Amino acid sequence: MTKFSSTEIAFAHKLDSEDELASFRGEFVIDDPNLIYLDGNSLGRLPKRSIDFMKNAIEEEWGKRLIRVWNDGWVNMPTELGAKIAKLVGAKADEILVTEATSINLFKLAVAALQVRPKRTEIISDEFNFPSDLYILQGIIELLGDKHQLKLISSEDSISISSEAVQSAINENTALVSLTHVAFKSAFMYDMKKITEMAHQAGALMLWDLSHSVGAVPLDLNGYNVDLAVGCTYKYLNGGPGAPAFLYVRRDLQEKLMQPMWGWFASEKPFDFDLNFSPAKDISRYRVGTPPMLSMKAVEPAVDILLEASMEKLREKSLRQTAYFIFLADQWLEPLGFKLGTPRQKQERGSHVSLRHPESFRITRALIESPVPAIRVIPDFRAPDNIRFGITPLYTTFTGIYQAIARIREIVEGKKYEEYSNEQLAVT
Ligand SMILES: *Cc1c(COP(=O)(O)O)cnc(C)c1O
Repeated sequence: MTKFSSTEIAFAHKLDSEDELASFRGEFVIDDPNLIYLDGNSLGRLPKRSIDFMKNAIEEEWGKRLIRVWNDGWVNMPTELGAKIAKLVGAKADEILVTEATSINLFKLAVAALQVRPKRTEIISDEFNFPSDLYILQGIIELLGDKHQLKLISSEDSISISSEAVQSAINENTALVSLTHVAFKSAFMYDMKKITEMAHQAGALMLWDLSHSVGAVPLDLNGYNVDLAVGCTYKYLNGGPGAPAFLYVRRDLQEKLMQPMWGWFASEKPFDFDLNFSPAKDISRYRVGTPPMLSMKAVEPAVDILLEASMEKLREKSLRQTAYFIFLADQWLEPLGFKLGTPRQKQERGSHVSLRHPESFRITRALIESPVPAIRVIPDFRAPDNIRFGITPLYTTFTGIYQAIARIREIVEGKKYEEYSNEQLAVT
């Protein structure tokens, strides 16, 4: 257990000076020294190397090679980039495909799973899940003729969910267990191995959403015998706004399952233009149409940075940083009415910290919008009362965490948030 004792800024400087990953911050575009960015769990920063990489993709590859560029390697990029992401999540090179959005991939894989458990009628998820995931499951149930029931496991403290609660929800009627590994609000992290085993013991398939785990915590999909997974590349992977997502199908399941969108890229030989569909035999059967190459390109240099840093070292730093955040919040913010909305146990915690306060919305606005020369902090607000602080160890500093907590204290002590309205913005 990491213990801290000092609330002096000199101590934050010392932690930064001892940080062996500190140089990775130089890999990112950071133009404003007075802006503390703690929202890399929603949209990762821009890697400097992505700029030249994209310039080349546009000017040389698209601009000069034109249609020939597809055969220069572009057409295989969904699987080749997948092979790199596989190293981050403990999968084999041919088990990951970069394609579409997370919501769409969840749709494809959940339908595929339900079709191989035709007699079972229950889908298990939880009340922490990202609403989009639940909407997709609700839509699937309607599409398949209302034969299934979606059962949501609930939390007793709105921070964590016990494995006993999961166990009692799963039974011989369960077709699919579909959970997000790290909860987007509280950062609660499931024991992936244990929950996957529970699903398998009941004969159900397990589908994990890794959006808040990939690039944040080490994963071992093969080690835990995970069936299916989806995940996002614009959060901790720093792939850029709306970058294509990825999906994972364990190799022995690839040919047994079939996703419902039979686009030409899912077929064995798209350029045969056969009038009847015959699916590819590998992970490509989970493709649909032409990949969005420019957005996909930007993911590659960003993933390289994570591989260079190593997930084990990133996790170690992330845990130190979230623990330091919680230590300072306990000292300075708890007396001001804040409550920790994230598990204190490190094995139950992803890479962000949520603080709860009745004035969270206006405090978030004050943090983001305070005029210069104030230090500005960017977290995000998640209803009803969470302020979420993403810790991204590639570029988050201990000094930044210190300054952010000091700034929250200043705003709440001085009631500076009262200058802001409760009016909601389109994106929070
Ligand atoms: C961010 C996130 C998504 C994003 O889905 P999109 O289809 O890319 O909009 C899905 N699931 C979870 C758990 C997320 O955190």
